[in-house]
Amino acid sequence: MYPKVSSQHFQSLFNSAESGLKVLLSTDSKKKDHNMQDIDWTKIMVGEEKWGFLIEIAIRTILMYFIILTGLRLLGKRGVGQLSVFEMVVIISLGSAAGDPMFYKEIGLMVPLAVFAIIVGAYRLTTYLMAKSKRFDDLVEGKATYIIEEGMFSVNEFRKEALAQDEFFSELRQQGVSHLGQVKTAILETSGCVSIFFLSDEEVQPGLPIMPKEFALASKIVDRDGLYACSFCGKVQPVSKGQQTECASCKRDEWVKADNRPRIK
Ligand SMILES: [Zn+2]
Repeated sequence: MYPKVSSQHFQSLFNSAESGLKVLLSTDSKKKDHNMQDIDWTKIMVGEEKWGFLIEIAIRTILMYFIILTGLRLLGKRGVGQLSVFEMVVIISLGSAAGDPMFYKEIGLMVPLAVFAIIVGAYRLTTYLMAKSKRFDDLVEGKATYIIEEGMFSVNEFRKEALAQDEFFSELRQQGVSHLGQVKTAILETSGCVSIFFLSDEEVQPGLPIMPKEFALASKIVDRDGLYACSFCGKVQPVSKGQQTECASCKRDEWVKADNRPRIK
């Protein structure tokens, strides 16, 4: 059995639906008006805060500024040029602890002070241990690695490093190197810098060209007999034309005509 619906009941249902729809429509048009005209500039400028909070921000920021300065002085670093990975971690942690208390009023200044004290303490302890133990130092900072010895890549070392060949060639070119025969030793320092020790002009050996145009000519089959350099490891050896030749050092087989010009200074 269905419940009986009287016509009066139906009418009242219909009326309430209609008025509900009207309310919906009217709030919709009100919303539009609000969007178009009543832009709340105070809210845009200071958010949920009162204007007075700006003064608090000024005080917080000035205090944090001195806390940061003191923290950095206590780290004992003179500058931030060439940060090691480990120092970078310290600086980033300090940075994230420093910013928030400037504008979050929920965070008191004791919080960053505590963070700073702990990080600076941990940093000082780590550097102390690094000075005491060579092994600990290698663990934290990594080791300086030989990239080039006697004009050839130290393949094993080089493969481990993230420094790409292109990037390294660019570094060498900036030092006026045009082929690896001009280089006695290149060392990748823990800071990421490359130290290069050159051979004198009289000592320059035939080596792998690193100029982009010459390097791009690398091929497996050469069209003239002569001294060629392995494009992967820089090993120089005679290669005869039309013959596939394996590198005596790294077993690859792509060659670039070796160059023996002195370095242009
Ligand atoms: Zn090779």
